[in-house]
Amino acid sequence: MLEFDGLYKSYGDNRVLEGVGFAVAAGSMFGFCGANGAGKTTTMRIALGLARADAGEVRWRGVPLDAAIRRRIGYMPEERGLYPKMRVGEQLTYFARLHGLDAAAAARAAEHWAERLGLGARRKDAVEKLSLGNQQRVQLAAALVSRPEVLILDEPFSGLDPVGVDSLAEALLEQCRDGVPVVFSSHQLDLVERLCDSVGILARGRIVASGTVEELRRREAGRLLRVVVP
Ligand code: ATP
Repeated sequence: MLEFDGLYKSYGDNRVLEGVGFAVAAGSMFGFCGANGAGKTTTMRIALGLARADAGEVRWRGVPLDAAIRRRIGYMPEERGLYPKMRVGEQLTYFARLHGLDAAAAARAAEHWAERLGLGARRKDAVEKLSLGNQQRVQLAAALVSRPEVLILDEPFSGLDPVGVDSLAEALLEQCRDGVPVVFSSHQLDLVERLCDSVGILARGRIVASGTVEELRRREAGRLLRVVVP
């Protein structure tokens, strides 16, 4: 179980998170929804140790996240973090090495994920030469090369064409089948509905509704869901 528990975060007078809590079971997919500026990225950055919570904690298998556990999280940031001049294959190997794989395992993982996400023919190309959609695939591959135990993805589908969406969706479902909990933020309700076992809606610094998309639709939260996921 991946648990976000009572997260508080303010930037000056801006109280962004006011007790955010939700849990994602191993092998399930959680859609993290909310209007622009609701605090989804902030919540994810806290899990990754890129922002510090004023209070609360995130736990994986009951243990508060520390640097060692965070190395086992695959993260796809919203502001994509690729090196434009580096070749696709080198980049993926580099991320795998960062997460502790030895050189041979890193090279194998890079090759596997490049193929798996349809980037096989682009392995020797510099990232900056790729279309936005392909760069996004590289970013996802970078999150997957280290065989993460947990996946946290910030708007991974934004900007992808339908083929890109399908290959990303399939890769994420496969991760779930392998027991990985997947959290992703999105404004695309159709995708959230198609992929997620559960959904949480962030508003006013809290999770104001959670459940399956179907449950939320049935309840009053359906109205809220339509508001925050246009
Ligand atoms: P979006 O859907 O637009 O990506 P979001 O739900 O991810 O939005 P956040 O990016 O977490 O929202 O931002 C939540 C609030 O926190 C916003 O008001 C934002 O301006 C503020 N914020 C985020 N990071 C910082 C920072 N480093 N310094 C100051 N304010 C910040």
